[in-house]
Amino acid sequence: MDFDTPLAEAWVRAIAAAVEKERARLTDLDSAIGDGDHGSNLQRGFAAALTALDGLQPAGPGAVLTKTGTTLISKVGGASGPLYGKAFRAIGAALPDPAAPAAVAEALSAGLDAIRLLGKAAPGDKTIVDAWTPAVAAFRATAATGADLPTAAAAAAEAAEQGARDTIPLQARKGRASYLGERSIGHQDPGATSTALVFRTLADITTT
Ligand code: ADP
Ligand code: MG
Ligand code: MG
Repeated sequence: MDFDTPLAEAWVRAIAAAVEKERARLTDLDSAIGDGDHGSNLQRGFAAALTALDGLQPAGPGAVLTKTGTTLISKVGGASGPLYGKAFRAIGAALPDPAAPAAVAEALSAGLDAIRLLGKAAPGDKTIVDAWTPAVAAFRATAATGADLPTAAAAAAEAAEQGARDTIPLQARKGRASYLGERSIGHQDPGATSTALVFRTLADITTT
């Protein structure tokens, strides 16, 4: 299985459904250490991305993700909109049509680079980088063994979920949560949590 246009569209659809379903949880996490809008920010952004895809005749999977990224940047005011938006645009720009697992790994890595370039967060700063970093590493390492897309995506999802849980004891050094200083300790980062959803949906749509 390669990463093709229908799979890219299915991924965006699945993310939109997941953030809709998990909206309250993401908002609760953001209420604890932020301003309580992470769930609604992503729900609004991915709903708009679906609308944008409706009228699109995409040239390939990259075009689907590029359009998604552009829409997130224009529709989401919070930190997460530009960060996810740049990530999807970078993934889209890097994806061949169709993309084998190793090429998907490179594209996801370009997405992480874009997040880090924009947000300047390092691993351990309690941000989406703490889930993206292990997810990309796991995807790449698994793909490098010759594993198929579902296997690489499942490894990435596991790693992202672990990375999100591992943000709990961290003190935030970037974003709104950093204003809380030590009081940000003991809470799971909302953005790392939504990143785990992004990778879990990729695993789900490739295995079903
Ligand atoms: P806002 O903080 O503007 O309300 P959201 O609530 O939608 O935006 O997103 C908050 C999430 O964004 C945080 O949980 C964190 O994971 C992520 N984030 C914030 N700043 C950065 C940054 N500089 N680099 C990476 N991720 C960041
Ligand atoms: Mg917020
Ligand atoms: Mg906000």
